[in-house]
Amino acid sequence: MQKEVDYIIVGDGYAALFFAHQLMKHQKTFVLFSDSEKSASQISAGIINPVVLKKFTTFWLAAEQIEFLSKTLNEIENFTGKNYQISENIHRIFHDEKEKELWLSKSETEELAPFLAKDFENLDTVLNPFGTGAVKNSARLNVEDFFTDFNSYFKKNGHLKAEKFNYSELHDLTYKEITCKNIVFCEGMGVTQNPFFNDIPVIPNKGHHLKVKLSVKPKNEYTIKKKHFLFPLNNGLHYYGGTYDPLERENEIDDFATQQLIDGLSEFYPHSFEVVEINYGFRPTVKDRRPILGSHADFPNYFIFNGLGARGILNGCYFAEELFQHIENGKELMKEVDLKRFENKKFIRL
Ligand SMILES: Cc1cc2nc3c(=O)[nH]c(=O)nc-3n(C[C@H](O)[C@H](O)[C@H](O)COP(=O)(O)OP(=O)(O)OC[C@H]3O[C@@H](n4cnc5c(N)ncnc54)[C@H](O)[C@@H]3O)c2cc1C
Repeated sequence: MQKEVDYIIVGDGYAALFFAHQLMKHQKTFVLFSDSEKSASQISAGIINPVVLKKFTTFWLAAEQIEFLSKTLNEIENFTGKNYQISENIHRIFHDEKEKELWLSKSETEELAPFLAKDFENLDTVLNPFGTGAVKNSARLNVEDFFTDFNSYFKKNGHLKAEKFNYSELHDLTYKEITCKNIVFCEGMGVTQNPFFNDIPVIPNKGHHLKVKLSVKPKNEYTIKKKHFLFPLNNGLHYYGGTYDPLERENEIDDFATQQLIDGLSEFYPHSFEVVEINYGFRPTVKDRRPILGSHADFPNYFIFNGLGARGILNGCYFAEELFQHIENGKELMKEVDLKRFENKKFIRL
């Protein structure tokens, strides 16, 4: 039987789910195609962080995005019955006294005062001879429950098509038995298979994480950051990750990245630990570090929502609304994220 909906969404990561939330909120009908592969989003750490922790700087729209995410997670709770924000700050381990001084001087600036705490803390269980600085307004997302609950909500409400979207079966705005008004493609690095948008300049950046069993657990539930992030999961294990590798493309676990993580953790965790699980995914990154939103030049009802980079949660949440308002109410897209910024530019995905 033919089915008519307002939207088809292709994909099931942060881009797709935050866009779906906009549709739920505005009572739009939709189906969402999920190929059930473990997405980069599902293996992400879930860190919500307004600060670049290498240089102690912030980034474009950080404060607005943090505020918008918190509001959105409250709205999502009305649909799934749960708030996925874990309000535990990041504690950045200082490498030396110089870093501490830099943090202090940055914490006096107007831009960073809302984010860099001035009171330093020494943590138990881990090595931190120069102490740690807390990032105010940082938090974590309960990634596992977020995806499990959204999936159940979609199933219960008839939104989910648990199959790979086959582009060759799309004819104008009809896909098999479904007719829609708009299609939003949110495939992350899967976009390379999409004949309508495979030329967008997204570059994969492979990341790994470990799930580890710590022999001695830190007393509190902070996110601890040295080279990577360490924090407790729901099941008694800890997450440690993630690595960055823009050159590695193999669809398999990489020994080098795994060793990098084991060494990174051993640097500040002086007790024994067991690696229980290793996962990897590909972040869809863009050279100018801005997401990519917009419509296809020849098919105005086909939209792309991609390029979320290393900040899938903040970018996904914030720009889902931007795209929704653009499609439904004709709001002009911010030029920084508009697909049109690449017009007339040649891109070769190396
Ligand atoms: C190790 C690691 C740690 C990270 N940690 C964080 C973090 O702490 N905080 C943060 O904000 N970000 C983090 N990120 C980045 C974040 O994961 C990405 O920005 C985000 O996942 C991108 O989301 P997406 O929805 O665009 O793509 P994806 O998450 O890749 O989702 C796309 C999905 O669409 C599916 N799909 C593709 N084609 C089709 C098709 N034809 N039919 C059906 N389904 C299809 C894919 O299989 C995939 O499941 C991390 C990434 C990695 C790798």
